[in-house]
Amino acid sequence: MTQKRMNGLHHVTAISGPPQANVDFFTKVMQQRLVKKTVNFDDPGTYHLYYGNETADPGTILTFFPFANAGPGRPGPGMASAYAYALGGSEFEAWIERLADDGLKFDGPSERFGQRVIKLADPDGAKVELVEVDGTAGPTLDGFHSVTLQLDDLGPTQRLLTDVFGYEEVGHETSAGEERLRLAVSGTGRQDIRGAVVDLMRSDAATVAQQGAGSIHHVAFRALDDADQLDWRERLLSAGLQVTPVIDRQYFNAIYFREPGGVLFEIATDPPGFTRDEDLAHLGEALKLPAQYEGSRESIERALPPLVA
Ligand code: ZN
Repeated sequence: MTQKRMNGLHHVTAISGPPQANVDFFTKVMQQRLVKKTVNFDDPGTYHLYYGNETADPGTILTFFPFANAGPGRPGPGMASAYAYALGGSEFEAWIERLADDGLKFDGPSERFGQRVIKLADPDGAKVELVEVDGTAGPTLDGFHSVTLQLDDLGPTQRLLTDVFGYEEVGHETSAGEERLRLAVSGTGRQDIRGAVVDLMRSDAATVAQQGAGSIHHVAFRALDDADQLDWRERLLSAGLQVTPVIDRQYFNAIYFREPGGVLFEIATDPPGFTRDEDLAHLGEALKLPAQYEGSRESIERALPPLVA
């Protein structure tokens, strides 16, 4: 098989506590657009909330399952421990000023691979990172820079990302009991791939990962269409990984597998996208249900907590 390159991140999915605090933080503080309000297809008593840029592009999408009674999660080996948004240089300063003016706590700026990084906490205490990048991105966060995967052993995950996904090592840092290996994908013909970076991180701190409010559930990479996704699936099977069949997630098709370090990975297609069931101008306004739940809309709406977006 010829070497092929992944097209960066499609979305990141995390678990949160009560939904209202989540919506307030990501729409008001992080200035993301609520681009879809639906339910967990495996548990329609729980919302599934999608945030993104104005046009809901792949590589900008952060999604949450808000469980009202979720216990606190904790990052540890075998879990994605953070995601980072990219910010152009002049906007980075403006964001720091605005966050400080609003009395929001954040750590940093600190430096990582020569780039400035600040770290905020969302209402569940999950890390939200902003990374300063070259260029003149607009005043809003317009997509991911990276995800960080915490691992006991960086090697097996590194081999998957380089040998199968086409990433290259671009940096290696060790500081304060933390080893960080930076991998990036580039050169697929489009400029500025969103979410082109994956950091593999090993910490000396002994922690055990716990899924719960504030933890990242899975990381989704991006397939351009169904054929591209099926090709990735064949490649993963050839590499000896166990991959699910294609699952219809209404706004994209998905395949899932656990990478060798234990993190749940997904590959999701660009089409059909978030305008499948509502106009771009009205994304996120109405509760959208897949066909199998439309008949139970009344009882589902009654059971869901009220939400003001
Ligand atoms: Zn997903």
